[in-house]
Amino acid sequence: MTETAVPAVPTPTRTLPVVAVVGRPNVGKSTLVNRILGRREAVVQDVPGVTRDRVSYDADWNGRSFVLVDTGGWAPDAKGLAQQIAEQAEMAIAMADAVLLVVDGTVGTLDSDQAVVRVLRKSKKPVVLAVNKVDDQRTEAEASSMWNLGLGEPYPVSALHGRGSGDLLDAILDTLPPAPPIDYEAERGPRRIAIVGKPNVGKSSLLNKLAKQQRVVVDNVAGTTVDPVDELVEVDGQTYTFIDTAGIRRRVKEASGHEYYASLRTQGAIERAEVCVAVLDASQPLTEQDVRIMTSVEETGRALVIAYNKWDLTDEERRKYLSREVEQEVAPFAWASHVNISAMTGRHVDRLGPALQEALASWETRISTGKLNAFLGRIVAAHPHPVRSGKQPRILFGTQAQTSPPTFVLFTSGQLEPGYLRFVERRLREEFGFVGTPVHVEVRARE
Ligand code: GDP
Ligand code: GDP
Repeated sequence: MTETAVPAVPTPTRTLPVVAVVGRPNVGKSTLVNRILGRREAVVQDVPGVTRDRVSYDADWNGRSFVLVDTGGWAPDAKGLAQQIAEQAEMAIAMADAVLLVVDGTVGTLDSDQAVVRVLRKSKKPVVLAVNKVDDQRTEAEASSMWNLGLGEPYPVSALHGRGSGDLLDAILDTLPPAPPIDYEAERGPRRIAIVGKPNVGKSSLLNKLAKQQRVVVDNVAGTTVDPVDELVEVDGQTYTFIDTAGIRRRVKEASGHEYYASLRTQGAIERAEVCVAVLDASQPLTEQDVRIMTSVEETGRALVIAYNKWDLTDEERRKYLSREVEQEVAPFAWASHVNISAMTGRHVDRLGPALQEALASWETRISTGKLNAFLGRIVAAHPHPVRSGKQPRILFGTQAQTSPPTFVLFTSGQLEPGYLRFVERRLREEFGFVGTPVHVEVRARE
């Protein structure tokens, strides 16, 4: 059997598809956004180019949820209008699954529309063309002339009166990737967990302790195919698939030179797992290898619980040293929760279950776009980015692109300094928790 050929976990579930609305000022983008949301939330302005402070919204139509981004809310600058709108479109293409281009049916197309059309035609993103302000039948002919933009069927709508908006929404949804099956959660089967750590820290002792405490686990749990190297074990009322237990149980005294294979095997287990228990020997000084294993859990994007084992062997003095070591070595993993256990005596092994469940819940947390942007708005207002050579980078809006682990994308004007980015990450954790999970923040900057 090849021990390193491990199937990878499915790629993280992308949460909600993003639809970006682009178009010249005053064509009715905000009115249309309001129409789609079915409420008066986006502020409609008669003054072209007025900055709105909220730009993205959670929307749904026919039971399908998506995020609607009103690019009209992006801060305009001194550039020419056509260029501004082309940039707006470029950003929309970069972040959205589909682009909704709005043109004004009463005015027809202008040069600034042509600029955006060129950008959109070049992209591979699906585009839906809305011809707005078609308030009655008479103006509908105007809409069909928009076929010549080369963006497919023009959808005549009246954002103001609601005319045609149902057909438009159907067309938008048709362009989006198919929704994940609703019972995905139920079909997923038991959570996958890996016990990792360097040799002799007590991995197999912990596994034995947990396996002994379990009730008998039925073999054919729904949705499971258990790999021969894996085991189903119940912890705190939850059945988990323990990854690569054969590698833990078989006390392979790995001769030197096999260390490379041991670390490959550990990496393989981390990749297959959703959550990892990193076992450390609390009675001995922490080592680089301990830190390396936790780093690889973080970099692989898995949830993490740290178990300080062999607690029964620690005295007061050792614990004093340990807390100093933890402060120095484990500080980068302060987001993970920890348990102080003894696999031998069973001390606090019962605390592992709740810690695992908390870590997994954090790992799969989704923050709604509305909540996230309200939070970002507060940060930007209270702690604006410092001005650098006359420019002030700004977070325009953000969206959570993925869960498992939570991954955020911030759209900015200008590059954020690393220090400011760390500050935002810290505030994100303070605001939303995320105990036990890595959090990724990506920045897409518009210069
Ligand atoms: P944005 O700058 O593209 O977001 O445009 P707004 O949504 O702020 O709308 C600009 C102006 O067009 C406002 O005065 C709206 O009331 C008006 N408007 C928007 N949609 C329609 C429509 O379907 N019909 C008519 N007649 N006016 C509209
Ligand atoms: P592994 O290589 O990480 O799987 O470690 P093992 O489970 O084989 O444990 C290595 C040694 O540490 C064995 O002699 C265990 O009996 C001992 N050990 C494991 N856990 C504890 C503990 O909590 N307390 C004490 N005193 N010894 C432990």
